[in-house]
Amino acid sequence: MSAATPLVDSVGRCIDYLRISLTERCDLHCAYCHPGRRTAPPARDVLTADDIVNIARAALGVGICRFRLTGGEPLLREDLEAIVARLTALPGLADLSLTTNGQQLAGRAQSLAEAGLMRVNISLDSLDAEAYSAITGGGNVGAVRRGLEAALVAGLSPVKINVVLFSGAVLERDDIAAFAELVQRRPVHVRFIEAMPTCDHVGYLAASVVLDRLRRLHNLLPVPGPNGAGPAQYYRLGDSSGTVGVITPISSPFCSRCNRLRITARGELKPCLFSPASIHLLPALREADPVPHIAALITEAVAAKPPRYGDVAEASVIRAMHVIGG
Ligand code: SAM
Repeated sequence: MSAATPLVDSVGRCIDYLRISLTERCDLHCAYCHPGRRTAPPARDVLTADDIVNIARAALGVGICRFRLTGGEPLLREDLEAIVARLTALPGLADLSLTTNGQQLAGRAQSLAEAGLMRVNISLDSLDAEAYSAITGGGNVGAVRRGLEAALVAGLSPVKINVVLFSGAVLERDDIAAFAELVQRRPVHVRFIEAMPTCDHVGYLAASVVLDRLRRLHNLLPVPGPNGAGPAQYYRLGDSSGTVGVITPISSPFCSRCNRLRITARGELKPCLFSPASIHLLPALREADPVPHIAALITEAVAAKPPRYGDVAEASVIRAMHVIGG
């Protein structure tokens, strides 16, 4: 398929970005994301590597050229490197990134980079071992720190860190100072993200609280994002190697700049994170020549994309992010 014209929705947003969830399974149980243990779907109901490649081929054909692999925890897929290699071989692919909790990244950053992965976002809600373990239901912060260093050594760039701001977070002053110290030493980009209302955990901490605390510690210089325009506003702390950023889906929604679609590990195409609407791709994916049909369904999802999440959110609650793909 040749390079397509940009895919523009009903309110003029250019949709060029697709997040694909590779699995609902996760080896952590973060308080705001995966509070219950949910039965994973049988393998026949989960996207295969062939399905993912066919989705990407269809997406590229209609103008979507940037992809993120997420989950669940994508590193639980043993075929992750093979998927990455097949995706990066597709003509027209402009960006391929991964979101991971970093628990197993130290041993796989190099093989992922060699397969063609370009960059990585690592979730790390606290630098304090006890707090991290409490938030994640037993995660090992040392493993994430080793994964972060392995990602830098492997040349994955930029390396971004996601810190979710939820109301029960143990984000005390020392923790913010510790993240500030990290970006001063290492070329990483720490983004504080207001928790979106999933499951029963609707409380969020406003990003402005974090910025106020950071301002008391450092001079904040607004800078462009490490890879162009995204929803985050970034700051350098004095002459720090890295940056801090804030993402404000609750206190200052950025729907007017939304450029993405999502596909769950069960093959549901979602026009908006908050919308209950979805288009089931699995039947089309199992056809003999699925790409044209999938391309048509992607175009349909873009046409159905709501202008604002407030127009579609049901009781302001979305399903757990490990199901949809964060
Ligand atoms: N397992 C991987 C990880 O932990 O990064 C990928 C999946 S996780 C669902 C993707 C991202 O979504 C993580 O950075 C996570 O912190 C974020 N996330 C999950 N629930 C969220 C919520 N309610 N609000 C904001 N971000 C959330």
